[in-house]
Amino acid sequence: TTFESLGIPPQIIRAIYDMKYETPSEIQAKALPIILKEPRRHFVGQAQSGTGKTATFLIAALCSIDTRIQSPQAIIVAPSRELANQIYNVGLKLAKYSGITIKRLIPQPDDSDDQFGVGITEQIIVSTPTSLNDYIQHGEVMTEDLKIAIFDEADEQFVQTKPNYSHSLPILRSLGPTTQIVFFSATLTAISDDFYTRFLPNCKKISL
Ligand code: AMP
Repeated sequence: TTFESLGIPPQIIRAIYDMKYETPSEIQAKALPIILKEPRRHFVGQAQSGTGKTATFLIAALCSIDTRIQSPQAIIVAPSRELANQIYNVGLKLAKYSGITIKRLIPQPDDSDDQFGVGITEQIIVSTPTSLNDYIQHGEVMTEDLKIAIFDEADEQFVQTKPNYSHSLPILRSLGPTTQIVFFSATLTAISDDFYTRFLPNCKKISL
């Protein structure tokens, strides 16, 4: 497989080559054809860090964007501020030639309030469950018409005993019927089949 054969636009391919990725990693070669070519199909991928999963879902997000529309079309939710920062930084590199804009919404230090009411025009949002849920509840981010919603380390977000659950679940529930939902998780079995049936009906699951 080559990046070109996956149908990735040239501006994104150029950024990929700048990062010295020559060919798709195994998870990229397995996941991207499904996510990109079946946009109505929810997707669950089992992959650990080190496999190239970050670039996989960032490429998927970048490819979903209509560059003429200046509002959020993709969200990426990661269970910690550190992970959200890492994803954001890789995202900026991959977006470099595309003109696609990315906003990071992460918890702010105690003494500074989140900036509500300014209007978010960026096309991709990278956030944590608490921050993004806060923005959604304040009506600052509309999730009903998102093209794609990506949850990294989904097993840290959608298992009831995890602290993120109460923030991640409302985000998932707020999505409209046309939003493609993508989970990446260290294991496929942490989240129950009932959960997948209810929230990601007919999802395609793959593991490495
Ligand atoms: P991740 O699994 O997202 O933590 O990525 C692990 C490492 O693989 C990162 O340093 C990436 O820059 C690198 N990487 C991702 N995709 C590729 C690729 N197709 N070829 C070479 N390196 C890659």
